[in-house]
Amino acid sequence: MRCAIIADIHANLQALEAVVADASEYGCEEFHVLGDVVGYNANPSECVEIVRALPGVCVLGNHDSAVAGLEPLDHFSPSAVSVLEWTRANLTEDQRCWLAALRPTRQIRLVTLVHATLDSPTSWGYIRTSSAAELSLACQRTPLCFFGHTHVPGIFVQGGREILLDEGVQLPPDQKFFINAGSVGQPRDGDWRASYLIHDEESSGIWLRRVEYNVQTARQAVLDAGLPAKLGDRLLIGL
Ligand code: ZN
Repeated sequence: MRCAIIADIHANLQALEAVVADASEYGCEEFHVLGDVVGYNANPSECVEIVRALPGVCVLGNHDSAVAGLEPLDHFSPSAVSVLEWTRANLTEDQRCWLAALRPTRQIRLVTLVHATLDSPTSWGYIRTSSAAELSLACQRTPLCFFGHTHVPGIFVQGGREILLDEGVQLPPDQKFFINAGSVGQPRDGDWRASYLIHDEESSGIWLRRVEYNVQTARQAVLDAGLPAKLGDRLLIGL
């Protein structure tokens, strides 16, 4: 079984459509989403509908939680708050309820899914180093856990190591890996292309895919919606 692991779509319809097409071409049968379906970009409603229809599961992200009214907006930046309020107004009640019902963690066979950290999934901490990953790895009950939130792809191994995830990697058995899929809709590692992972369960292979999409259309949609222009501009440079 091949699964696509997708994180931080952030209402970027063009990037999501390109990733789903790419993953389908590579034979992915399930699509697991690591949260933050909405926020920042201009097509939250369309992205919620696509994710709902995909075969797979989706966990709760901090933007999903805020838009669903599960927590206050005061820890977001002012520009993020304006987008979250716009997003709320551009989803149906049914779509907001779907976001509100997402769980913070899910287990699918031998894989755990979470948005930010496993030790405290709804505190929304950022894991950027192998030492920061240790707390999550200590809570991890499956060989693999996929996460997002930082929008930077990478693999952390229990014991303080990091594996470079530049293309494909074969994961050795008997170790635990905490793996970031990067971001579909707003990459922040200097590469504008949408990021996601393909996980081949039989071979324990992980492939990082970077997918070109119509970034100009996504940027224009941000401007047309009256969202902050800098959110459209950052898509062009992947930061
Ligand atoms: Zn995010």
